[in-house]
Amino acid sequence: MAVSPRTPGPTLPAHPDPELDRILRGGLPHELAYAFGGPFHLLLPDRFDANAAAFRAALAEAGVDGLVHYAKKANKAAAWIERCAATGTGVDVAAAGELREALGHGVRGEHIVVTGPAKADDLLRVAVLQGCLIAVDALDELDRVIALARATRPARLLLRRLPPAQPHSRFGLDDAELGTALARCEEARDAVRMEGFSFHLSGYAVQPRAELAGDLVDLCLKARAAGLPADRISIGGGFAVDYAAAGDWERFLREQDPGDYHAGKSFTTSDFYPYHSPVAGADALRAILATRPRGGTATLAARLKDAGITLLLEPGRALLDRAGCTVFTVRGVKERDGYGILTVDGTSLSLSEQWFNSEYLPDPVLLTAGDRPAGPPFRACVGGATCLESDLLTWRKVVHPTRPHPGDLLVYPNTAGYQMDSNESPFHDLPLPPKVVLDTAGGRTRWRLDRHPAT
Ligand SMILES: *Cc1c(COP(=O)(O)O)cnc(C)c1O
Repeated sequence: MAVSPRTPGPTLPAHPDPELDRILRGGLPHELAYAFGGPFHLLLPDRFDANAAAFRAALAEAGVDGLVHYAKKANKAAAWIERCAATGTGVDVAAAGELREALGHGVRGEHIVVTGPAKADDLLRVAVLQGCLIAVDALDELDRVIALARATRPARLLLRRLPPAQPHSRFGLDDAELGTALARCEEARDAVRMEGFSFHLSGYAVQPRAELAGDLVDLCLKARAAGLPADRISIGGGFAVDYAAAGDWERFLREQDPGDYHAGKSFTTSDFYPYHSPVAGADALRAILATRPRGGTATLAARLKDAGITLLLEPGRALLDRAGCTVFTVRGVKERDGYGILTVDGTSLSLSEQWFNSEYLPDPVLLTAGDRPAGPPFRACVGGATCLESDLLTWRKVVHPTRPHPGDLLVYPNTAGYQMDSNESPFHDLPLPPKVVLDTAGGRTRWRLDRHPAT
């Protein structure tokens, strides 16, 4: 069937955000697009604070002692780390640069967990000197930590468990390795403080997290019997973000087919992020804490309390929910094969989902430059300002409320978690999109750059 730009197609509106809408429709984005002459990101640190507070509230309601760590890889901005330092929120880092950033913005070493495989010596050295908690991923890494600790000061560590339900994971220690690691910690005596165990699961399911957390509680009790402190566990990240309403997401999955994408591109729907999650963010933590792990009648919360164990969390995406968006300017509009092709002033490297055989699906929102009578809807995919056929921000022929014009803005909603900068590149010598922080204290919205270019 021939489509025309007027044919309606599948849509996936993000959850409404009236407060941000007011800011977006007040003219600031057009001013900033003029100032920067290219795409940019908007950051909302107040939202980050609220998300972190919601996780803390879930811990408090369950009476569980815990500490939230922001998984820094989800977004490189300084704004989040500044908020972590100010609010006593911890940070999860996996590279020396991330650790320097966290320490440099004032996050205390004791509030930092260091994760990631085969950690570099320079990372481990700073981590030990600053009293960070090191999640040890392998036996050879443990040997390096112990050697370093003997030469400097005692190292705080967790042993990362290979999830039995994800046996092909390349991370963590299996049962035999855990036994060896515990023996080496006992031998190392005062050089290390073995504080407990950790895991990070892929996926967003509640039950497997509660089960594995229950196992880690048992491991702590055994380690204590051997004289090790073992008073905390980390259950990693993977708290889902709910981007869109259930009905919209179900309808989208039902209706979309390759004809809805530029060049007939087809995506495997199971590769899409689950853009609707009935239980997301801090509610996912509530659900995990209320789950009764197999082989007992107590909830995970009760088991943690009974055993006197502190629960560490490492949410990345969930702390950034609704805390940012990305703004591109439309440069050109053409029509081809019955649909439109928009070209914007940035690249799909500023919207990471494309790099995982997938697409960022929440609908971009059109902000027209000046008032124009609303026209009929117009379907168009969104291409980047590069010479690559594959550089599409959105392969889907998005239903725009009217025909976009050059100079209009396209706002991708809720991009702070992983979309903004994990794959950004100055390809074609294009500048990286600046990050603009919106401070909304005292009912007044002011903007500033996330960091000065030299820092
Ligand atoms: C990536 C990662 C996280 C954060 O995951 P989210 O899905 O963003 O919550 C936490 N811990 C570890 C070890 C990670 O690798």
